[in-house]
Order: sequence, then structure tokens, then C-alpha cells
Amino acid sequence: MTATTFPAPELNELAAVSARLEHAPATAAIEWAWERFGDGLVLASSFQDCVLIDLVVSVAPDIEVVFLDTQYHFAETLWYVDQVRSRYDLDLRVISPEVAPDDRWLDDTDACCAIRKVEPLDRALRGKAAWMTGLRRSESPVRANSPIVTFDVGRGLTKVNPIATWDDIDVAGYIRDRDLPVHPLAARGYASIGCWPCTRSVAEGEDARAGRWAGTDKTECGLHL
Ligand code: SF4
Repeated sequence: MTATTFPAPELNELAAVSARLEHAPATAAIEWAWERFGDGLVLASSFQDCVLIDLVVSVAPDIEVVFLDTQYHFAETLWYVDQVRSRYDLDLRVISPEVAPDDRWLDDTDACCAIRKVEPLDRALRGKAAWMTGLRRSESPVRANSPIVTFDVGRGLTKVNPIATWDDIDVAGYIRDRDLPVHPLAARGYASIGCWPCTRSVAEGEDARAGRWAGTDKTECGLHL
């Protein structure tokens, strides 16, 4: 579906909005983005939890939700996607890579992420004006300065991170208060959940993202760079 055309924002508009939203509830960012971009806005979810989905559908129940099926997700993740999709009656778009499963993840994780995550996301966002993510500053040093609203220069789109200021306690509290369904692997020590070849559980006290590409220098798949 072609998105409605909305006037492209100026960078100073995005900076001012981001500053204004810094101490506002996450729903204020979602409301601004939904009013500003309408069906030109897409929510990209990793389905590690459904906190952002729960927040977003309270404002924009018809929003398009994108899930990148890398073909290497845990069976538990695919099961969880189905549970969440049914619970919220999501307009869910599952995007797959244009290549068959292969062995790139064994020796070239950057190339693997490029064809299984980055290219499919770029394809999903084609023709859109803005995308929304569950990225949080507390997740890693690389994400520590993420604004709530910014311009994704690489894709030429506005990017909205409504829960950028939330920490793990905020997330856990929201899940508890709203009695949200939890990813089955969360109870088994998987604090950050990606593809099975590149994700392990973490020990108590270990950084949440320490289980992603463990033993390598890689910390990001490229979606947020
Ligand atoms: S996380 Fe691992 S398996 Fe998944 S796309 Fe990246 S390299 Fe490939």
C-alpha cells in the first residue's frame, strides 16, 4: 500500500520535538508520530517483548507492524510473534530475506545481517516517511545517546524511539502492570533475543546484550547504525 504523502520534516523540527518529548510519556511520542506521519509510519518490532506494541496500539491500532524473519529465529520467537499478533489483531507484515538459508553466519556475520536484516528492513520501509523502534539508551553504550526523534540519514526517514529513556526496570514494571505475554526464552536467561546462531543466555549481572554475537567485537546488526 502506498503511504499518504506528508511534508518532510525539517531537522530543527525533529530536534525541537525530541527535546519536548524527553520528559513526556512514551505515548506522547507515539501520538506525535501518528499525527505527523499517519500511514507513512511503520513500527518495526523484534518481538523480544511486546511493550512498545502495547503502547503503540493504544494510540494507533491500525499501524503497520514489521517483523524481519531472518530465517534463523528461535522457534519460541515465531511462536511468540503469533501470540502477540493474535492478542492485538496486528496488521503484521513479515519480511523475509531474498536469499535462502546459508552458512554466512558461520564466518561473516556482517554480511549475514546485511542480507537478512538490513536489506529486508530497507525494503519494508520503502515509500514510508518514518519508522518507530523499541531502541533504548540503557541497552548498550552505542545506544546511550539515541534521541527520541531523529532523522535516519541512511534511509532518509524520520526515526522515532518512544521508549529510548526507559531502563530495564521500567520495561519489567510495564510488563508486570499490564500483564503482558512474555517471550518464553526470557525466563531462561535470554535478556536480548536475536537469531539462534548469534544469541546465548546471559549470567546474572552480565550485560543484557552480552549474549549477542558473544566472543566477537560485533554489537549491532546494522539496523540502528
Ligand atoms: S544475527 Fe546472526 S544469524 Fe541473524 S542475521 Fe545477523 S549474523 Fe545472521
